[in-house]
Amino acid sequence: SPHLFDAVILGAGAAGLFCAARAGQRGLKVLLIDHAEKVAEKIRISGGGRCNFTNRDLDVRAPQRHFVGENPHFCRSALSRYTPADFVALVQSHGIGFHEKHKGQLFADRSAEDIIQMLLAECERGGVTRWQPCRVGSIRFLASGPAESSTSSYQIESDRGPVLARSLVVATGGLSIPKIGATDLGYRIAQQFGLPVVTPRPGLVPLTFDGEAWAPYAGLAGLALPVDMSTGQGKQRTHFVEDLLFTHRGLSGPAVLQISSYWREGEPLQIDLAPGVDLGARLLEAKQHSRKRIANELAALMPHRLADAWAERDAQWQRPVNEAADKALQRLAESLSRWQLVPSGTEGYRKAEVTLGGVDTRALSSQTLEAKAQPGLYFIGEVVDVTGWLGGYNFQWAWSSAAACAEALATG
Ligand code: FAD
Repeated sequence: SPHLFDAVILGAGAAGLFCAARAGQRGLKVLLIDHAEKVAEKIRISGGGRCNFTNRDLDVRAPQRHFVGENPHFCRSALSRYTPADFVALVQSHGIGFHEKHKGQLFADRSAEDIIQMLLAECERGGVTRWQPCRVGSIRFLASGPAESSTSSYQIESDRGPVLARSLVVATGGLSIPKIGATDLGYRIAQQFGLPVVTPRPGLVPLTFDGEAWAPYAGLAGLALPVDMSTGQGKQRTHFVEDLLFTHRGLSGPAVLQISSYWREGEPLQIDLAPGVDLGARLLEAKQHSRKRIANELAALMPHRLADAWAERDAQWQRPVNEAADKALQRLAESLSRWQLVPSGTEGYRKAEVTLGGVDTRALSSQTLEAKAQPGLYFIGEVVDVTGWLGGYNFQWAWSSAAACAEALATG
């Protein structure tokens, strides 16, 4: 006979663990299933091993500023009911040390493992049953439940036999980093029950360029510098002032990861390689009193390697600054402060920190994360078409959506 639970949660990642713990602590009999050998592998590798678990700058009254998706307002309800401060309080109650790095980003002092142990301890307190590794088979909705339960339920086939539960929570995440267990199970379940899915694509990902077009810059691999990077037109225009990193294949670093979530295939990026500096004025001024090569003058305003590589691109830029035409200097300044280039693609799911798109928020309740047309079926975390900026926003969405769902499971 099947195992009976109040709720089955698929995916023991950030959202699944947290939802299981909170639902369990509210008295529900919860089963958490994951096919991976190890629990929460993505938390383990997150934030360079220190887990950037939330962001203090998240404005819960206007979270759409830090989230991408077809409806960036969808996340507000959950985020305002379980906030970064709530999660910080939980971390503190477990005695885990943490620190703020850049722009409100909070990291564990010691290791991401501390966050995982905290979530497992919370699951323990909630009496959560965890089956792992355990493969998930077919899923059926039984409109009138078995004799033991008065309502409809879900039957889930698994390695350890069939399971029956009143509610099914899908927390299987996105497609990023397939080698640690990412699959499309969540999207397939959505499709099985008729929920639309916004086409997934890699986000927070390095961008690549065609070999030939990239050749002049390939020698800059390893160089990092602050830039102002933008994409999109008019009202859609988005920009970030962050570090840029040149790689062998293209561009990476926080500025690029952030912009990648807004970039659309075929669109150009615009990069100011010397933000806040009027390069044209500085070069024309240098022309008045200096006989140095242009590259040497530029090197006072930006990294040496960049100045050298740039000046090499044009014969007119390889002269002493006092011998250069004003026009040539202006053209040089412009090429650096409005560098425009079209990526050929991204590094893909192998390198992407998140997956954009996912279960269409129009099909879900923003209060409970339950499918509007399918009672008892919930989607939480990254599988939903809600994607945060780099900097702890994605984990906060996992915690907040999990908390909203757990509350609904317990009261529904
Ligand atoms: P996940 O944490 O990915 O969990 C999904 C779970 O579902 C996994 O355990 C998986 O094994 C399981 N699963 C998948 N398919 C199946 C299946 N078919 N059957 C059974 N189980 C299945 N975000 C931040 O906010 N801060 C950071 O510092 C940060 N750093 C990151 C670093 C890297 C390298 C990466 C890749 C991501 C990072 N992220 C970070 C993003 C963050 O990890 C995710 O947004 C977050 O983990 C999503 O939580 P989730 O629970 O929805 O999915």
